[in-house]
Amino acid sequence: MQGNQQRIVFATNNLHKLREVQHILGNHFLLLSLNDIGFNHDIPEDHETLEENASQKVRFIHSLFNVNCFADDTGLEVDALGGKPGVHSARYAGEHKSTKDNVIKLLDDLKGESNRKAQFRTVISLIINDTQKQFDGIIRGQIIDDLRGENGFGYDPIFVPEGYSQTFAELDLSIKNKISHRAIAIQKLVSYLKTI
Ligand code: IMP
Repeated sequence: MQGNQQRIVFATNNLHKLREVQHILGNHFLLLSLNDIGFNHDIPEDHETLEENASQKVRFIHSLFNVNCFADDTGLEVDALGGKPGVHSARYAGEHKSTKDNVIKLLDDLKGESNRKAQFRTVISLIINDTQKQFDGIIRGQIIDDLRGENGFGYDPIFVPEGYSQTFAELDLSIKNKISHRAIAIQKLVSYLKTI
């Protein structure tokens, strides 16, 4: 990569994530959302692994727009639930249920369970100059038994990352952005992009 900001499409319209990732990317790249390139539909993601879904999403956008782009897929993997909700994290409580419903269902599933270990895992799939690469990021932590904090999104109010006493939703976003699963995967992505 040379000199100026390079444009790269992040195959999402989730503004929380877009802001998070742009913050981590700094000035090296100008991140464009799907909205920015005029795509306002859902992208198919119908596989059973994060890897396959991320790959499916990036291939889909690349085939339509022929742009450098990346897509991510993230899941919360709970040890005592054999890795669930995992790839189904967004719709754990059902197709039309809210984030809060997903969180409540997870807390219900873990009622009476002493093993609270879990991890967030992100997989990023990148297509640049017609080459495809994957990067992952994992943060381990614990699921607490109530909701704490207002920041972030998704399962943040019930996840306490290892080495901290506050949930992701209580921690300042700048701290989450440094240590999160997505941050780790994005750092790997950025390190790779800087080599080409
Ligand atoms: P996605 O693949 O990034 O859309 O993530 C799928 C689901 O995982 C989301 O709908 C959220 O419920 C959850 N999730 C992803 N990233 C985070 C995070 O950073 N904090 C909390 N929940 C997350």
